[in-house]
Amino acid sequence: MKDTFDVIVIGAGPAGYHAAIRCTQQGLHTACIDRSTDNTGKPVLGGTCLNWGCIPSKALLDISHKYAEALVDYKSFGIELGKPKINIKQMMAFKEQVVGKLTGGVRTLMQAGKIEVLSGTGCLIEAGVVSFQPLKKGKPTRLQAKHIILAPGSQTITLSDLPLDESRIVDSTGALEFSTVPKKLGVIGAGVIGLELGSVWARLGSKVTILEALDDFLPQLDRRLASSALTAFKKSGLDIRLGARVKSSRLLSNQVKVKYSDEKGEHELGFDKLIVAVGRRPATENLVDKNCPLKIDDRGFIEVDDLCQTSIEGVYAVGDAVRGPMLAHKGMEEGLMVADRLAGKPSLVNYQAIPGVIYTAPEIAWVGDSEEAVKAAGIPCKTGSFSFAANGRALAGNVAEGMVKIIAHADTDRILGVHVFGPQASELIAQAVQALEFSASAEDIALTMCAHPSLSEVVHEAAMAANNEAIHAVNKQPAKQR
Ligand code: FAD
Ligand code: NAD
Repeated sequence: MKDTFDVIVIGAGPAGYHAAIRCTQQGLHTACIDRSTDNTGKPVLGGTCLNWGCIPSKALLDISHKYAEALVDYKSFGIELGKPKINIKQMMAFKEQVVGKLTGGVRTLMQAGKIEVLSGTGCLIEAGVVSFQPLKKGKPTRLQAKHIILAPGSQTITLSDLPLDESRIVDSTGALEFSTVPKKLGVIGAGVIGLELGSVWARLGSKVTILEALDDFLPQLDRRLASSALTAFKKSGLDIRLGARVKSSRLLSNQVKVKYSDEKGEHELGFDKLIVAVGRRPATENLVDKNCPLKIDDRGFIEVDDLCQTSIEGVYAVGDAVRGPMLAHKGMEEGLMVADRLAGKPSLVNYQAIPGVIYTAPEIAWVGDSEEAVKAAGIPCKTGSFSFAANGRALAGNVAEGMVKIIAHADTDRILGVHVFGPQASELIAQAVQALEFSASAEDIALTMCAHPSLSEVVHEAAMAANNEAIHAVNKQPAKQR
């Protein structure tokens, strides 16, 4: 093993492996250290996202969605299959197969790029120096590099009154591995993980109760859409209780009892399984030697500027371990930006145009600000909305629930935010991200042709509605003459 590189990356999640691959594309001799292993102890690349996050959760979301459709919708389309049955073992095997394909793909890409992949733990000693402890027993090695990129990711936050027991009280990783469908499932936290994994098991037959401490549902989302989403999710069977502050839990022989309080008083509920999904925190413990002056804030985030430069020259940090939303695509873009800049190429991340998606049914997606945030900032704005119920493609596919809302500057017409609750929101939001990236106006989207019939016409009509020119809806006011 060589001990001197141009770049050492610590962490091979989306942020780290993107940085490493781009570094080698730029001709930089790169090593990437990662300590993750699978259930059998075999080293795996791809971090949380590929192994225990984005990908396995989406596999289960998609399978459970197909199952729910087969149970409820197929008959009304004239498709008769008999009563569908879910085989959890096969479902998990499919999920593992998808994960294996992608993590194996990352290893192949790393090898093709001649990246030195080191299985073990990295620790920043000082500028230009990393200590590497191999997974297999052995002494730590001192490695040197001109540049170091820290991409250690994040880990589950646990509650002291609800310690995980890996069997009945689990985090998101445990909830991706249930071997049977729990009859009664409790979820603490109605955030992204709570809603996604709660949906998976509810569709497969669990009676799901989600306890959320906040009084507002998804506060980051436009209020009108959040309210529609809450109604739809409750109708679909998720028992979402807001303002429910969880106090404690106790394990009985066959149940987890959870105590919570809300405005009506104290309550206790019993569940077969409980998922704790109350957020994630940076995985920065022991990442840095105790004598290293790297600045880490009191919540564990590595302090960086807009270019991901840390407090130590030549050391950068990207992904979940730095400020900003904990999203795979945000980390990927940061990794690419740092690598490009190391090679002297100009590159920036546009932090104003990071899409967020919640993969429920219907999906939720947004980019930019909500109407409430724009108004709170004192910016004059106008809005345009359009419903999927008036879209031919959505009706033909029996997915005509939800709407698109566009928020634009009242004077310049520039788009400030787009919020979608509806089918394929995760795909439709790409149209909006590009609009924000190119500083488009609502009129720009309105004048851009969409294929007919397609769901993208809902974004198009919402943009036309922002200037009272929607065709398939009654406009709020007469349109202004151009
Ligand atoms: P990670 O993916 O966490 O990778 C960090 C890697 O670094 C890990 O392999 C870790 O073992 C390794 N490491 C840490 N410290 C060291 C060290 N000292 N030495 C060596 N190795 C080290 N985001 C989305 O955008 N879309 C989604 O749909 C989505 N779904 C999710 C679903 C779930 C259930 C979860 C938990 C998360 C989800 N996320 C999603 C979030 C997403 O997984 C993270 O934002 C993303 O993985 C962060 O990437 P990262 O590279 O910063 O860190
Ligand atoms: P989150 O921050 O989205 O939601 C946590 C929720 O738990 C919050 O609503 C919070 O108010 C609530 N909560 C906290 N303490 C509580 C308590 N004691 N009782 C009841 N409720 C409590 O966090 P998450 O859902 O754990 O997700 C973690 C991260 O993973 C997020 O940052 C998210 O970006 C990322 N993620 C993204 C996706 C996606 O992009 N689709 C999917 C999964 C996870």
